[in-house]
Amino acid sequence: MKQSLAVGLLAFALCGSAAVWKLIAAHATPALRTKEVPLLAIAHQHADQLQQFPESFPLQVAVFWTSPGPDPENPLPLVHSLKEMGIPFFVTRDLPQALRHRLVIFYPSVDSHTFTEPQVDLLTTFVRQGGFIFAQNVFWGGLQNLFGFRSFAPSRKRYHLAFSVTKDPVTKYLNRPEERETQLGSDHFPEIIWSNGYVPDPGAEVLAHFDDGSAALLTNSVGKGKVYLLGLSLLDVVLRNQNNRDYDAQRHYVNTFEPGADVWLLVLRAWYEAYGKDWVRLSTIPGGQRSALLLSHDVDWENSFAPGLDFARIEKANQTSSTFFIQTKYVDDANSKGFFFAPKIDILRQLKTGGSTVGSHSIIHSRGFNKFELGSGHETYSSYQPRGLGFDTASGATVFGEVRVSKELLDGEIPGQDTIFFRAGHLRVPISLPEALERSGYQFDSSFTADDVLSNFPFPLPRDLGFEEDSEIYEFPVTIEDEESPGFAKRVPQALQVILANAENGAVSVLLIHSNESVLKAAAEQDLLRQLPSDIVKTDMLTFAKFWRARDRLQWSLTATSVPTEAVLQVKSDESVTGLTFEFQCPIATATGGATMSLDHRHLVLPELAPGRSVSIHINYLH
Ligand SMILES: [Zn+2]
Repeated sequence: MKQSLAVGLLAFALCGSAAVWKLIAAHATPALRTKEVPLLAIAHQHADQLQQFPESFPLQVAVFWTSPGPDPENPLPLVHSLKEMGIPFFVTRDLPQALRHRLVIFYPSVDSHTFTEPQVDLLTTFVRQGGFIFAQNVFWGGLQNLFGFRSFAPSRKRYHLAFSVTKDPVTKYLNRPEERETQLGSDHFPEIIWSNGYVPDPGAEVLAHFDDGSAALLTNSVGKGKVYLLGLSLLDVVLRNQNNRDYDAQRHYVNTFEPGADVWLLVLRAWYEAYGKDWVRLSTIPGGQRSALLLSHDVDWENSFAPGLDFARIEKANQTSSTFFIQTKYVDDANSKGFFFAPKIDILRQLKTGGSTVGSHSIIHSRGFNKFELGSGHETYSSYQPRGLGFDTASGATVFGEVRVSKELLDGEIPGQDTIFFRAGHLRVPISLPEALERSGYQFDSSFTADDVLSNFPFPLPRDLGFEEDSEIYEFPVTIEDEESPGFAKRVPQALQVILANAENGAVSVLLIHSNESVLKAAAEQDLLRQLPSDIVKTDMLTFAKFWRARDRLQWSLTATSVPTEAVLQVKSDESVTGLTFEFQCPIATATGGATMSLDHRHLVLPELAPGRSVSIHINYLH
């Protein structure tokens, strides 16, 4: 039955209503239906960050971009951090424009060329009169007094960071041991990221220090305002972790709570909430809830299809569903025989009809996927013949082939299916994956672990896993999986602790259970679902991912009216989205536009937004 496909396949095309369907048959191999996957061009974003993030309302944090060129370090790491936290901001090169806002960030660094002497006076007056500045890597002696340091020492040999016990509000979300101390890189490396250890002025307060005792984060009060100074770059402690170019800064690979990048997002969030006047933030979780557990299964063995139905049944009984990532293996090779055939495909159709969602888990599921060539982008089922030669090696396989042809098959074989979610076999990620995915029409990926990227918030995957620009793909890293010893069934309490730690931060948790058996594992999943607090949403990955994408691309503003207790929230989404939630510093009395208020009067849940339509919500504060 499952002989490998011969060369010289017989192909004939039939015209469907929406797409071209191809029926491909080879002598003994069952025919598989495919749906054409167009090869898309790369959509580059705005080259100009100033145009991409314009000033639009007073509450926005002003990002003063200190290094626009000739070899600019772009603000992408800061953009990731602020957008993930739902903090409104704009990017500018105009200092007086920046100083019209109460909260200002200098990015990426400040040296002797950044400001003139008169501008230092301007900055000092700004802070003295109640302005707040967050800066990283200030090198210039002209700003020593304002920022409260005497000297600094650059090094690539600082491996740990610890937050001090203080009353300062910016560390208010850092309550767990994994947050109080983080690792900047593994000491297996003789040198890791650059850090600048500061020697503080006596009047300044040290909020975090490096392992050599120098200050990593310090704060200085001047008049009615305050400045914060970080001796690290968000490029190194956020983006470098997210694109997995870090020096093994993670303390574990999977199944534990690793907030090494998130602590900086949480510091910025706390800074905004402490000093923003009547602040508003776009929540990370829909429906006014606290967190979300994203459910998924990997189907990467011939006997993993049928138990999937048991998982789906249990999930339905617990008012939820999951995303099944399917290995579409149609070739025989050294690792296994092909299995993406009937009757297994019938099971997929049942899962889909029953409300589960489906993603791709590649074709040959190679441990060497991260070493594959990108390929041409013209790989197709009729000609793509990859074979695993062993665990790590393969012939005839490309990144494009694994991504595109699996989508051709899933979309062709499952009615109504449009595959836009991918997870790599063995979670091996080639740097060309974002490009292969976005050019094949995908939107989402879940191939990293949260521990490995040191972050528990979804984020846009940078193109080529670099530092220059984001791809169109959003990453949802795996938090908890089922295979690590002693197996998921014995780790439910530990999994719950990780989920609760993430919930405290408004972060999400992604659960991966292989559906190779449904006796122990499905019972364990049910156990976990039943213990989950009711303010943690349980959902399939695709539904949450669509929410996150719309959230990340949302345009919104909050403007005052002539009445002091009133404001207007304006939102516009390019895609349909339900449950968008805004968090307010000031309690709300009433809101128009079909928005619903939480019991604490501080969260506003928006009604479903129609794509492209702008909605205005009039808000009355309690006082
Ligand atoms: Zn797998």
